[in-house]
Amino acid sequence: MDILASFLPSHGANATASFADFATPNTNLPYGADLYTGTDPSSLNFLERAWMDWYIWIGNPVIATGLMSFLLHEFVYFGRAIPWIIIDSMPSMRKYKLQEDKTATPAQQWKCTKYVLLTHFTVELPQIWSFHPLCEYLGLATHSVPFPHWTKMAWQIGLFFLFEDMFHYWAHRALHWGPLYKHIHKKHHEFSAPFGLAAEYAHPLEVIILGMGTVGGPFLFCALTKDLHILTVYVWIVMRLFQAIDAHSGYDFPWSMHNWVPFWAGADHHDHHHMAFVGCYSTSFRWWDHLMGTDLSYKRFRARQAEEKRKAKEAGLEWPTKPATKTATGALLSKEKGYSIGEGETKKTL
Ligand SMILES: [Zn+2]
Ligand SMILES: [Zn+2]
Repeated sequence: MDILASFLPSHGANATASFADFATPNTNLPYGADLYTGTDPSSLNFLERAWMDWYIWIGNPVIATGLMSFLLHEFVYFGRAIPWIIIDSMPSMRKYKLQEDKTATPAQQWKCTKYVLLTHFTVELPQIWSFHPLCEYLGLATHSVPFPHWTKMAWQIGLFFLFEDMFHYWAHRALHWGPLYKHIHKKHHEFSAPFGLAAEYAHPLEVIILGMGTVGGPFLFCALTKDLHILTVYVWIVMRLFQAIDAHSGYDFPWSMHNWVPFWAGADHHDHHHMAFVGCYSTSFRWWDHLMGTDLSYKRFRARQAEEKRKAKEAGLEWPTKPATKTATGALLSKEKGYSIGEGETKKTL
């Protein structure tokens, strides 16, 4: 925090101001405390006080919101992708892999990480720092406390899920149109067997276009109602990141959400989109693809796959019956530089 304080503007001596400093009446209040004139700290819960402390400590709401948004995105994105990297390195998990003949090699995962970081810092960072002025313009509550009641947050997030899914279905489908696919969306389809980190592996224009589905819902809602807190937007974005990373994980477990919420899309749905390059265009839910008939090949493929698994089980064979022979792009593993073949898999089988 001290390192941060040294480069943040308008802090200087105020950089170490804490909630205690603010709560104690004095004539030397930090700049950020101006935001909370008339707020009674004793009426707030722990999280609300921490929120207030953050804005007071940073002292500049544009930077406080921008920095919090960026850090939240980075921590959640990479934090959620790490378990999938670990799962990818465990041979015992391969029976749950949707494309059991393909594996994401460390070189592919590293390439993807570098590209995603580059787009985060060059494309998303400037946008995130203009987030606060845009929120203010639309009337979105940022620094203010107390937070809205959780029931209000829940139904608002439900609406954002519905909006994003509809927006994504049509925008994503449009991105599969010849010229748009060739110049923009092709990048995201480099991995025909996706993995968690590949969720945001996309052309910068695609990040902007499809990102509008994520932030467009809250902005539209706020413009119409003037009743939205940025915390609700943060919770929504965290849920959306979990959805996107999990949908790219490449795994379907018996406990995966779509197995108990039938209309939830999950990896089972999106993995097929990457494998087949067409169909299954939506993000969270299945109804748009069902309604528009863009999930027919997916349904046929999954039925065939289930049949293969059933036959293997009947024959007493362990699934998958063959070792993985291809990388996440579909190239032969034997040609991947520096990739060592897993236990039980010999060069002969490749
Ligand atoms: Zn696509
Ligand atoms: Zn994808």
